[in-house]
Amino acid sequence: MRSGQSIPMPLSEVLARLRKAEAEAGRPEGSVALIAVSKVQPLERVEAVLEEGHRLFGENRVQEAEGKWPGFKERFEGASVHLIGPLQSNKTRAAMALFDAIHSVDRPKLARAIARIADGTGACPELFVQVNTGEEAQKAGVLPSETDALVAECRALSLPVVGLMCIPPVEEEASLHFALLAKLAARNGLSGLSMGMSDDFEKAVAFGATHVRVGSAIFGERVPG
Ligand SMILES: *Cc1c(COP(=O)(O)O)cnc(C)c1O
Repeated sequence: MRSGQSIPMPLSEVLARLRKAEAEAGRPEGSVALIAVSKVQPLERVEAVLEEGHRLFGENRVQEAEGKWPGFKERFEGASVHLIGPLQSNKTRAAMALFDAIHSVDRPKLARAIARIADGTGACPELFVQVNTGEEAQKAGVLPSETDALVAECRALSLPVVGLMCIPPVEEEASLHFALLAKLAARNGLSGLSMGMSDDFEKAVAFGATHVRVGSAIFGERVPG
């Protein structure tokens, strides 16, 4: 216990909002995991959130994560980090060694590369298939119409696929994309839904998110690298 007046941390505020959103959606307390997205944040901000007791983080680049997470994992028992950004095939092995989950499986070639490495090491992080729900040309993710086939291919490779992930187009109503992702997951028998960011995580919870990815609301604005 700390003595004196405690200053509310953004982390505790975000957690309180998340618990309230769970309650309002009639979902059990603690059923939604908060991934604190620490990409591009100064190390001392990330460390402060670790000191507060938070243990689940997200990064979008393999190389950046390799620079900080092996050290943090050694110092903070139970710390885990999820890859939420696109994965190039040549970084697959490094990503599988570092990350506890990969949210960006978006093509058969990548699924096969993961399976080959998993066969060799006997270990594989939990996987989410990323769906490009807005069918945006510049965005990663499998098209909605190709999602069932990719999930089936992952299963045929015995990969531990636990859910789907999406990043809705900025200019569109996120709810439509959350609803579509939930529908695609249900029809594939997947319970994991990685969706919702700083501006819309409560809405995502209402649509069944199991993992929300929140960066700036916890850490403040990202400092441009
Ligand atoms: C950066 C990022 C987030 C967090 O974004 P905020 O708006 O800062 O909460 C979530 N998901 C992905 C895939 C990201 O790259």
